[in-house]
Amino acid sequence: MIKTKYIWLNGKFIRWEEAKIHILSHALHYGSGVFEGIRCYKTRNGPAVFRLKEHIERLFNSAKFLRMKIPFKKEEIKKAIIRLIKLNRIEECYIRPIVFYGYGKMGLNPKGANIDCGIILWGWGKYLKDEVKVKISKFIRLHPKSVISTAKICGYYINSIFATFDAEESKFDESILLDYRGFVAEGPGENIFIIKKGIVYTPKLGSVLPGITRDSIIKIAKDLKIKVIEKDISVRELKNCDEAFFTGTAAEITPIVKIDEKIVGNGHIGEITKILKNKFYQIVRGEDKKYKNWLTYVN
Ligand code: PMP
Repeated sequence: MIKTKYIWLNGKFIRWEEAKIHILSHALHYGSGVFEGIRCYKTRNGPAVFRLKEHIERLFNSAKFLRMKIPFKKEEIKKAIIRLIKLNRIEECYIRPIVFYGYGKMGLNPKGANIDCGIILWGWGKYLKDEVKVKISKFIRLHPKSVISTAKICGYYINSIFATFDAEESKFDESILLDYRGFVAEGPGENIFIIKKGIVYTPKLGSVLPGITRDSIIKIAKDLKIKVIEKDISVRELKNCDEAFFTGTAAEITPIVKIDEKIVGNGHIGEITKILKNKFYQIVRGEDKKYKNWLTYVN
């Protein structure tokens, strides 16, 4: 993590070191916050934020489920992000907006606590290795009747943290979590795609986060006339695939080359994954005009 000089907190641009909150912040105790992960890429026309609108929509939508009224308008948050990138004079970064129940109330019902709102940027290169070996986790994804799967809520991530420990302690790079029925769900912070006989498959929504990179890849594949099917994927189908990859803002497009003891394809990035990955990077770097409305330029 390469830190930056300024952080936006509750409407003010302050120095990184000064962005502090109270120990009795509700979210620290109970995970009652919502957040986003967004990337800003260097392009020929200056830094550009990828799919800013969709990330801010998801942030506000997550907040709604937590009965949280964000004390800023969507446009104000977007402007603050752009302004913060300029202030920090950074060309490429990861952007973390977070809104959470803060100080003022304890007990499980957070209503009445302050609502704190922050935006942090940092330089973040590759989140995962270029190619990853994954383990099917002993932890399952949160049951869709236990939580609201379409929301990106801080507390949910303890499930991802356990799965990450499990993968690391078993000497794998990352894990894949199954859903409560035993079908493939997603990685701890990534959606998953597999390819079999030229067709791209991804788990349908239900137990997984509706990833914005997932949505981008589905659209890109369709534009390239590659067939995409959203469906339940069994472990057997997963292990018999020709290619597999993760998608996520942090993970971008990361090929999966081994699942448990099974090598995927020839053990390296597959052909279709390569096509989709190359197109994705062209788009985020502003090199494909067709997708220019996915980019918000900073200048
Ligand atoms: N699933 C989970 C659990 C995640 O945390 C993320 C990262 N936000 C994703 C999928 C991928 O979503 P996105 O492409 O919007 O970053």
